[in-house]
Amino acid sequence: MLPYGRQSISESDIAAVAASLSSDWLTTGPLVDSFEAAIADVAGGTPAVTVTSGTAALHVAYAAAGVKAGDEVITTPLTFVATAAAAAVMGAKIVFADIDESTGNLSLPAAEAAITARTTVIAAVDYAGLPVDGRGFKSLAHTHGALFLEDAAHAIGSSLNGEPVGLNADLTTFSFFPTKNMTTAEGGAVVTANPDLELRARRFKGQGLIRERASLRYPDEGPWHQEVHEFGLNYRLPDVLCALGLSQIARLGAFRARRQEIHNIYNQAFAGNEQLTIPGVVEGADPAWHLYPLRVPADRRKDIFLQLRQRGIGVQVNYIPAYWHPVFEDLGYKRGMCPNAEIYYAQELSLPVFPGLQDDQVHLVIDHVLEIIGD
Ligand SMILES: *Cc1c(COP(=O)(O)O)cnc(C)c1O
Repeated sequence: MLPYGRQSISESDIAAVAASLSSDWLTTGPLVDSFEAAIADVAGGTPAVTVTSGTAALHVAYAAAGVKAGDEVITTPLTFVATAAAAAVMGAKIVFADIDESTGNLSLPAAEAAITARTTVIAAVDYAGLPVDGRGFKSLAHTHGALFLEDAAHAIGSSLNGEPVGLNADLTTFSFFPTKNMTTAEGGAVVTANPDLELRARRFKGQGLIRERASLRYPDEGPWHQEVHEFGLNYRLPDVLCALGLSQIARLGAFRARRQEIHNIYNQAFAGNEQLTIPGVVEGADPAWHLYPLRVPADRRKDIFLQLRQRGIGVQVNYIPAYWHPVFEDLGYKRGMCPNAEIYYAQELSLPVFPGLQDDQVHLVIDHVLEIIGD
C-alpha cells in the first residue's frame, strides 16, 4: 500500500541519532537547546519550547494561556480532534466556528461571530499546510482580550506574505509525528514571542518545577530546593529525539520543495476536471503542503476511497468534523452546526504526499483517480 504520508529518514539522520546515544545525555541535554534554536529560526526567530508531541504542544499552549474551566475556546471542526481535546480536558467549552469553503481554514468572520466575553483562546489550524491569516486572527483575539493559538501541526516551514508560520500567533504549535512535514518520531513544539507565555510553557512541560532562586517562595531552604507553584506534567522531548529533529530540520527546505512539486503535478492533472476540486490557496501563501486534499463528489467519495485502497493507494480522509466524535455528541453538539466543514469533509480525499514519493508514483495515483472518476 502506498501510504498517504511517510517519514524520510536519511543516513545522516541515523548517524545523528546514533551519535547522541553515545553522548553523556539521553534526555535533557545540549541538543534540546540546539533544536529549540533551530525551530525558532524556522519560525521567524520566535523562541521555541520542545515537547513530546503535537498534542502535548497544544496542552502546554492552552496551559500557558491559562485556560480554565468555563472558558470558551473557539476552534475549527476541520481538524484532528487534539486541537479541541487539549482544551476540553482543561474544562474549557469548545465553540466550533465554520471554515472557509475553499481553503478549509477557520473562517475569520465565523470566528468573530462566535466570540463572547468568556472567549480566552481562538485556535485556528493551518489546514493541509496552508497558513491562516495570523495577523487577522491575532488582532481579532486581542480586541476581545483573548489569545490567538495557531495549530501549525501541518505547517512548519510554511509562510504567508513572506512571514513564516510562528511569527504572528501568540502561541504556535508544531507536531513532529512521522507523517508531518518533518519528524522526531513523536514530538512537538510550542513557539511564542511572549516571555511570560514561554516561561509558563516551560514550567508546565517540566512538572511545574521552579529552581531559579529569585522565584522561590522559600529561597533559603537549601541548594537542593525546588518548588511547584502551579501543577505541571512531564512533556520533555529527549536529546535523542532532538538529535533526529536537528538533522530533519536541516532537510525541511528540501522536503517543502518536493511537497510543492507533488502538489503541482496533482493540480495540473486535476484542475479543470468538473468532478474534482483542487485545494484552495490564498494569495501570498507559500505552503509546505502536508496534505493534498482533493474534493470529489460527496455521493461518490466512499466508493472512490474504497476503490483507491483496493488498488493499493493509501488515501485518507482529513477530517471528520471534530464535533461528530461521540464525545462531543454526548455533550449535546449537533450535526449541521458548521455546514461548510461538513460538506468539505463529505467530499475530501487526501492523496499521498511525502518527500520520497516518486513522480511515477504520483502519476500512478493520478491515473487511478481519473480512471475511477470517469469522464
Ligand atoms: C497531528 C496533529 C496534531 C497532534 O499531533 P501529534 O504529534 O500526533 O500529537 C494536532 N493537530 C493537528 C491539526 C494535527 O494534524
